[in-house]
Amino acid sequence: MARYHTPRSYWRLLLPLLFVAVYLGGGCTKWRTGLERWVDKTFGSATPREQYAWGKPFAAATMARWDTAFVRSTRDTLLVELPHEELIVPDTNVLYTANAWDFYLPPGRQLRISAGGSGPLFGELYTTEGEQLLVWDTLSPSLSYETGAPAGQNLRFVLQTAPHADSSYRLQMITVPALLFPVAGKDETAIRSFWGASRDGGQRRHEGNDIFADRGTPLLAVAQGRVSRVRNGGLGGKTVWLRDGERGLSYYYAHLDSQLVRAGEYVERGDTVGLVGNTGNARTTPPHLHFGIYARGARDPYPYLQGEDPPPTPPAEYPGRRTEVPLRGNHYLRIAPQREAANVIRQLAGGEPLIDLGVTGRYHRVRTGRGELGYANFD
Ligand SMILES: [Zn+2]
Repeated sequence: MARYHTPRSYWRLLLPLLFVAVYLGGGCTKWRTGLERWVDKTFGSATPREQYAWGKPFAAATMARWDTAFVRSTRDTLLVELPHEELIVPDTNVLYTANAWDFYLPPGRQLRISAGGSGPLFGELYTTEGEQLLVWDTLSPSLSYETGAPAGQNLRFVLQTAPHADSSYRLQMITVPALLFPVAGKDETAIRSFWGASRDGGQRRHEGNDIFADRGTPLLAVAQGRVSRVRNGGLGGKTVWLRDGERGLSYYYAHLDSQLVRAGEYVERGDTVGLVGNTGNARTTPPHLHFGIYARGARDPYPYLQGEDPPPTPPAEYPGRRTEVPLRGNHYLRIAPQREAANVIRQLAGGEPLIDLGVTGRYHRVRTGRGELGYANFD
């Protein structure tokens, strides 16, 4: 009778299990680190930043300072508003290779971050509570992120150059609409009635946006999803409901001239679902689409439809030329590059030494001789 399992073949099965057990259980520290790295590299849970560091491109002491710079920047952030553009000049000091920005991302908007310089850049997106959301390096052209939070989300983006990188880089953070515009050939300028407008003599509020277009204009699926209902009757007249499982949202198209989909059908973003009309209680008005978004109650569709942000103000000058606070005028160190009094950290003294790290609009990103980080305007 054949022996299916020699003692040796048992070991072949057991040995990998033992490795996994050692890895999961902790075991000897040196072993664990090696295995952990192998698992991270193999299964891709390491960030591009960590993978770069493991290549040991610089002396251990430099790499330790580089890690410190990253951690310090996540605790030493400045506040900006979207859209934002900033030109950064990395200082020769390794501790200044990382920068972080805190900002608010509203619902309905997709964040797009791009950055370009001559050396590698490592970006990581977090919530302001420190939860890691996305990692990125400049091998891919941009990072995109959307929030599912109905009230939007406060985010933190950290960007680090390689140690001793002598290149400057430009960071751009903008938002674009999360959804495709639902009426072919139109944009938000065709919206004539907005969220919250009074209806039926104040009896109810407008829970959507009215988008005016010629009768018969194609209506497009704003995202991929499943047609959940196709109805005729009531205030909406001919209506189509589209369910977006990825975002957990339902889209409502009303007053259609004709419906071109069936319930249960799957559609891709951009597929035609119907044609503009004035059915239902729109009989007495010009043809338009009433578009609504629902997720446990109605949401204002406008931010989901409003076009891409206008280009941010480009930096007014090249950074890296200021070494001290001008003697004339009053100058302030601020938490954000805006003039509001609430942003002021403290007044700067004339002649005070500075390290100039970047420029956004008319503000410089500076580090003071006392080690404080902030924005300052020297106009
Ligand atoms: Zn309406």
